[in-house]
Amino acid sequence: MKYIVSLDQGTTSSRALIVDSEGTIINKAQKEFTQIYPNDGWVEHDPQEIWGSQIGMLAEVLSTSVISAKGIAAIGITNQRETTIIWNRKTGKAIYNAIVWQDRRTASYCDKLKEDGHADMFRAKTGLVLDAYFSGTKVKWILENIEGARAKAEAGELAFGTVDSWLIWNLTKGKNHYTDVTNASRTLLYNIHKMDWDDEILELLDIPKSMLPEVLPCSSDFGMANINGTNVPIGGVAGDQHAALFGQMCTEEGMGKCTYGTGCFAMLNTGNEVVESKHNLLSTIAWQIGDQVTYALEGSVFIGGAVIQWLRDGLKMIDNAEEIEALANTESDNGGVYFVPAFVGIGAPYWDQYARGMMIGIGRNTTKGHIAKAALEAIAYQVNDLVTAMEKDMGGALAELRVDGGASANNSMIQFQSDVLGTKVVRPTELETTALGAAYFAGLQVGYWRDTNEIKSFYKEDRQFEPKGDADILEAQVSKWHKAVDRCLGWAKE
Ligand code: ADP
Repeated sequence: MKYIVSLDQGTTSSRALIVDSEGTIINKAQKEFTQIYPNDGWVEHDPQEIWGSQIGMLAEVLSTSVISAKGIAAIGITNQRETTIIWNRKTGKAIYNAIVWQDRRTASYCDKLKEDGHADMFRAKTGLVLDAYFSGTKVKWILENIEGARAKAEAGELAFGTVDSWLIWNLTKGKNHYTDVTNASRTLLYNIHKMDWDDEILELLDIPKSMLPEVLPCSSDFGMANINGTNVPIGGVAGDQHAALFGQMCTEEGMGKCTYGTGCFAMLNTGNEVVESKHNLLSTIAWQIGDQVTYALEGSVFIGGAVIQWLRDGLKMIDNAEEIEALANTESDNGGVYFVPAFVGIGAPYWDQYARGMMIGIGRNTTKGHIAKAALEAIAYQVNDLVTAMEKDMGGALAELRVDGGASANNSMIQFQSDVLGTKVVRPTELETTALGAAYFAGLQVGYWRDTNEIKSFYKEDRQFEPKGDADILEAQVSKWHKAVDRCLGWAKE
């Protein structure tokens, strides 16, 4: 009996999971690691700690499952996207900390690129908006700010990689410098139409091509990981949201998922064509298997489940996140309260970094229950905005939305999501869809599974939510929500 191991290297923790031939996760190990905040708006990780925690969790999950390296058919990797690492090819040591996707240090450089009129070119080639979020300007920052980096890069001595590349490099003991198409598509350096690094962009950002990894499809031979002296193939790699879309088996055009964690990430399979968003979403590569490239539209909400964390830790209204559902259900409606949790600005489709959080419609009769309800509704309204934008870009309605992530356990919230969307919402029994997606890519590569049809049969529904409620009332509520969002935009501008 052999298994697939999924390495899920996230923003706050490294996890290793064991998946059996029926697509069931039979064991997992998880370790949090240090978040480094050297300056306002800066977020870093120690690349050595990322690697150490990831390989440590692999060892732990194998030992607690009593599985040897020989029992692993293949390894799949999924990871926090955009986070940028540059290392020395000879020593294998990173020359600077990993600059995390959340890091804003290159925001003003992005503004300058926009002022110089480059935004349309970036969007057309990469599908992305010019934002500090993506890797490209982070690479440039390291080359310009770390002594000697530029000269070494020009001499071909340095390697750049997102976290997947860093793990592959270390797992193969420095043999392979690879990434996959989904991680490449988040660097701001990759042309998603030509499926290649873009020379014009590299020149504009002054990044030597010799630093870049070779880009492979998601199911590929990424090399052999040396685990306790045994060679185990690394067969699958994909960025976290892409892996979740695959793990949810949204394999047909028009299928979409939303992950409800700290933030919410919605992705819609748009088939074999890039759909250029007219509604402020990102176009991205969903995955590539063989020669077949599948594209997606993506939208993210910065504060999703995090609004519940704030009610817990900031306001101390609840002791744990699960209590929010019962508190919200002490009231039959929101009592006219709308809560826009724009704590760090607001993401797609608004993209306003100066928006700030706001509650409006508070009266003397407002209760904790109303606020709890308004907070949960806010998560659903934000996702509704993303899905509505996707439907406009696609020119059609979504048949169903598949959901996962910690906050998707909240039945009342997910029911309300279905109500405002007017769409069926489906929740699978296994919410670890990100890890499953990476395992599936790996398993397909080594023939552990025959094809995606076989994998589709593993999908088990926990529950379906059908839209309910009065459509006119819901429409009026959505328009109230938009009125509230309008009032918090631009608030923090000088
Ligand atoms: P991440 O992977 O981003 O750390 P998770 O998928 O683990 O997130 O989900 C955790 C988030 O979900 C937290 O922000 C938490 O506040 C929220 N959450 C957990 N349970 C519930 C619940 N029952 N209702 C609403 N939000 C919840």
